[in-house]
Formats: sequence, structure tokens, C-alpha cells
Amino acid sequence: MDIEVQAGRFELVFLEDKLLGLDKLDGIGPKSAKKLRDKGILDQSDLLLFMPRKYRRVGHFLAGPDMHYERFGYVEFMAPVSQVRLPAPKTKQPLSVVVDCDGRLFKLIWFGGLTKSSTLRGLEPGIWLHIKGSVSYDRSIPEMSHPTIEVLTQSNPLIPQQYVSVEPVYPSLEGIKDAILRKAQIQALNALLPALGDIIPRELAQKHDLPGIAQSLSTIHVMQPQNDVEQFSKDLQRAKKRLVYEEFFTLQLKIAQDYAEQRSNAKAPQIKDLELGRELIKNLPFKLTGDQRRALATIAEELGSNIPMRRLLQGDVGSGKTVVSLCAAAMAIGSGQQAALMAPTDILARQHVKRAEQFFEGLDISICFLGGSLKAAEKRQALESIEDGSARLVIGTHALFQNDVVFQELGLVMIDEQHKFGVEQRDDLLAKGEDPHLLSMTATPIPRSLAHAIYGDLDLLIIKEKPPGRQPVRTVLRDTSRAPKAYEYIRQRIEESGEQVYFVYPMIEANELVANRKNVTDNAKMLSESYFKGLNLAVLHGNLDGVEKANIMNSFAAGEIDILCSTTVIEVGVDVANATIMVIESPHVFGLSQLHQLRGRVGRGDAASMCILLANRDLGDDAIERLISFSNTDDGFELAEIDLRMRGPGLFLGVRQAGQAEFKFGDIQRDNELLLAARQDARKLVLGDSNPED
Ligand code: ADP
Ligand code: MG
Repeated sequence: MDIEVQAGRFELVFLEDKLLGLDKLDGIGPKSAKKLRDKGILDQSDLLLFMPRKYRRVGHFLAGPDMHYERFGYVEFMAPVSQVRLPAPKTKQPLSVVVDCDGRLFKLIWFGGLTKSSTLRGLEPGIWLHIKGSVSYDRSIPEMSHPTIEVLTQSNPLIPQQYVSVEPVYPSLEGIKDAILRKAQIQALNALLPALGDIIPRELAQKHDLPGIAQSLSTIHVMQPQNDVEQFSKDLQRAKKRLVYEEFFTLQLKIAQDYAEQRSNAKAPQIKDLELGRELIKNLPFKLTGDQRRALATIAEELGSNIPMRRLLQGDVGSGKTVVSLCAAAMAIGSGQQAALMAPTDILARQHVKRAEQFFEGLDISICFLGGSLKAAEKRQALESIEDGSARLVIGTHALFQNDVVFQELGLVMIDEQHKFGVEQRDDLLAKGEDPHLLSMTATPIPRSLAHAIYGDLDLLIIKEKPPGRQPVRTVLRDTSRAPKAYEYIRQRIEESGEQVYFVYPMIEANELVANRKNVTDNAKMLSESYFKGLNLAVLHGNLDGVEKANIMNSFAAGEIDILCSTTVIEVGVDVANATIMVIESPHVFGLSQLHQLRGRVGRGDAASMCILLANRDLGDDAIERLISFSNTDDGFELAEIDLRMRGPGLFLGVRQAGQAEFKFGDIQRDNELLLAARQDARKLVLGDSNPED
């Protein structure tokens, strides 16, 4: 039977329809079924993917002295009672029973008093028990609390052959007893495993030594008794590898299919008239760096083809990506197309407009802004000019991909700080043209393997070289107790040389739920009333409306404000060359890449710049270590690697993209090689010999 591979997300495929309702399972009534559904277990097949949290090695009927902590935290054995301590009547004192297993004593403990009918009542020395449970070896006599016991009738029972087994341990689900859950799961496994279909082609499974999906799940859930622990751990490794590979493979298959489809429907506008691009470059107040020119050459070549360009332009903060995108826009506009540049914040979009107007001066190009800070009438006018084609370069925010925006002829989409947008948002904007070209930009350097996994359909383009004359930003880490000294020093710099300063805080207002995080509202007030009395200080954060934000940013850029106290709204792209000092309060809250972005706001002019981290000494070693490595390096790529290592891909990419980077089974870092293999396999399958990465 042929199986249609569901490219994209990991999903189990069944060859025949089975009754999948949870309520078909013994022991699961409507109430438990609802509880399971609340936990995301919607039908029986989800029970197959409810994974053990860990495995435990269980020693059965070992001699007492052989039960060691490292090997057997869970045991089953038979032993006679040697001592019973009953709780005093009508108290909640624990009951404790000491048993003697081949000369090694174990203390069994039950809390919560003794019921009248408890089997424990009749216990006395000499009676044999069959005991099962977990052991804690912390005390001189190992303790077992609430073990399962059976009182044996013989006074000298035959002790079964000793053996070792492996048991899966599942996460507890609130409101459902572990035993009931396990029983339901075993029913589901028995019913469904035989009906599972393998979606990985046999050659690939052989090549990577992967067991079938049913066998893998059977191993993972320990459906057969496992006496050979070493063999089990080998089998388990292969079984897990299967799931990881399958997960990567299905996603990479989708990526490869999309890639092939884009190429087969090649109807992107061919952008071949580069004259306007050349004029813009002549118009610039500086010379492009070598990397910028090389990036533009690649872009020009791809824009000229009717296969839509899909590029991710990566470059550290300040490396000059915006200029590159504006040159690309000029090529598109010069070839009769409209170009759209989307940025994550109103402030940044407006700044791009300003810069574009400056660069395009005299070239007679109509540039239009579209963002939340526009008044209704202005917005209507902007929408009209986009639709009738009089606006050639449209720069805006999330407003760009909304339904009310219609382009006359959108040939090039550019996305600044693309990691701030979701893939659907990108696709919504792309859908406003007929197969437009795409240039995405990011200052968050992403290790190549990760980039492949997440942006598998984008080709990388990297600029490393920075514009000449830049001075590195000196970064210092100071304890908060030394903040007053830092403030005095800053005041001096403002008064003596007219420099401008950013203060950055992680929070807008105080919130007692999160300790150890300063907020911009209270602290800006404090600073303006004390250390910086008499200077111009302004507050900027995401709760202000767009017009207000733009006004504040404009006055800061014009030098009318000395100190800008802000949240991370200034994180991306904002460019004020006269701002030379940045103070980051509670810096431990931010990821390294984010700190690097923030720091990139200073050091944009020729003056020596500085970044001061004010951290609490008692943060803990990890946090301090991270901040120290941040102070020591100015290389965004290196910081990204450290961040990825220390915080994992989810946090690294920020909340927006965590969804794309998170796999159920795979781990982009740990399973890096398998990921690349899955990518190659999928591309070969879909693209055959036309795979350009070969
Ligand atoms: P990015 O977006 O990569 O962080 P920008 O495009 O905002 O960087 O550029 C940062 C600053 O450097 C801007 O003021 C820009 O005008 C300037 N710049 C860009 N390219 C050059 C260059 N080749 N020479 C000098 N200055 C440049
Ligand atoms: Mg930028």
C-alpha cells in the first residue's frame, strides 16, 4: 500500500482506520477523557506519542547487599519483618516497618495514620513480605516510603530467580492515576502499533540504520520485558534516532517541495534595468564596502531571473544592510516594479523613510510610509497611492500585510529584522505581488545549520565587513552599588561634549511578580529628579502611541534630548550617531544576541562609545559569566553561538520564532548531523539531480 507522506509536521500515519476515541479505552471514562484532552491528548494515537520522562532499572529479587543506589533506585524483593513501630493511637504519626533482606535492613514508611482495616495492622516480626517500590539510600538504613506490599503466608517462601528489567516512567498527569494512564496507553499501543505505516523510504531507513516506526514506539514504551539492559539502551537509541530523523525529514521534505514549486512556477518579474540602482549608489554620501558590493552583485543577478529570489541577508548590527536593501529597491523600481520594505516598529520604519528620502534625493522616486502612527486621512491617502502605483517604494510596519493594502505591481519584498516576524506574516506580504522577489535581513547571526533548519527555503547572504572608521564599543560590567559613580561620569560627558545617552530597562512598570528587574517608569523619574536634574530626559516604551514615539525619537535624533530612557523598543535598527553611551539596567534579563543588538545603537559615529551594564553582584555564576563574555567580545556571531549553547534555540530565537525551531523529538544542536542528513535526503528525493547544494 502506498503511503502519502504528510510533509511538514511529524505525524503518525495509519494504514487502516481504527477506532481512535479515548473513551473506547478500558478505564477511561468521559471525565478522564476530558482531562487527557486538556493535556493535548486528543485521541488514542496521541497516547502513542506520550513519551516516557525517563527509564528506571529495576532489580528484582536481588540479595540485599546487591541493591545499590546507583544501579537500583527501584526494587522488588521478599524479606521478613524484623521490627514494627505502630503510630500512637489516634495520631497521624507514620508507621514504620523494618525488614531484613539477607542482613541488609530496609525501613518501610507509611504516613498519614493507620486505618482500621489496613493489612499493616497485623504485622509482626517474622512475617514475610513481598515488597516493591523506590528506595532512598540517603540514610544509613535505606528507606522506602509507601511501597507496594503483599503479606506472604509462608514463613520461608521460595524466592524467585533474580533479574533486572527496565521500566518507563511517564510524566504524571494531574487528576489521572499513573496506573490508569499506563493501562490505557498499553491498550492503545496494542491496538494501533500493528496499523502504523512507515513513511521513510526503505533505502533511507537502511542507510541510517533506523528501525520501523512501530518497532521504535514499541521499544520506547517497553512493550516487551527487557532483561538485557545494555541491549535495551542500544535499541532505545536507535528508536529515538528514528523519531528524530522522521521529524526532520518530514519538515525538510516540505521545504524541498516548496523550493521546487517556486522554481517550476517561475513567473517572478525580471528586474534587469539596473540604471536607477547605479544612480542611487552614486548618490550615497559614502562608498559601499566590498561586502556590500558583493551582496548587491548576487542580488542583482537573482533579481534578473524569473525564479523568485529568496535571500536572507545576514550582517552584524551596523554593517549596512539597510543601504543594500535600498539599492535593491532602486533596481526593482528602475525596472518598473514597486518595492516594499517592512520593519518591526514604527520608529524604525520612519527612520528608514527618512534615510531613503535622503539617499534617493533628486532621483524623483515617490516614497510612502504606512504604519500605525498615521492619522486616518493620511492612511487613506497612502493606501491609494500604493494601489494606483504612484508610490514606488513603500516602507512600513505590520500594517503592510493587512487586507486593506493592495499593490499595483509589487516586485520586491524586503523584510528588516526578519526574526521579529513570523513566516505567515512574511508570506502574507509576499502574496500581495505575483511571485515577488524576497530579501530578508537579520542582524541576529544564525549558525548555518540552524538557519537551514528554520529558514530552509532561504539562501544565505552574509556581510561581515563593517563600514570604515567604526570604533569598537567599550563594554564594562559594574555592580549596581557603583551606579551613582557611573551616573556622575555620564553627566560629565553630556555637559562637556554634548553626547547623548540611552538608558535601557527590561520593564515598562514595576511588577511584583518579577523580582530583580528595573523598570523605565520609576527609574526615569528617579534619574530626572536626582542625578540628571536640569538635563533633558525623555521616556520611550511600547505603550506610548505611535505619533508620540516618533516625536520623541525625532527629537532625540535632532539632539534635543540628552537622555533617552527606554525599553527594548529601541533595540532594532535605530540610528543616532551622536548617542555614545548606553546604560543597560538588569542586563541579565536579556539574551546575548539581544544585548548585542542593543549595544549596536551606540558606536555609530566616529566618537568613542561605551556600553555600561549595571548588574547585581548576587545574580549567580551563570548570569555573570554570560555578561562577562558579552563584555569581552564584539563579534555577534560568537555571541550567538554562546547564547545558543547556554540558552537553547527556543530562547535564542525569541518568542516569535520558537514555534518553528522547536521540534518534538529533535534538538537542532544535539542532532545537528542528522538534521543535515535529513535535509540532503529530502532534497535528493524531491529535486533529484537539480539540487544546487550537491
Ligand atoms: P544595519 O541595518 O546593518 O545595522 P545600517 O544599514 O543601519 O546597518 O547602517 C548603519 C550606519 O552605517 C548607517 O548610518 C548607514 O548610513 C551607515 N553606512 C552604511 N554603509 C556604509 C558605508 N559603506 N560606509 C559608511 N557608512 C555606511
Ligand atoms: Mg538595520
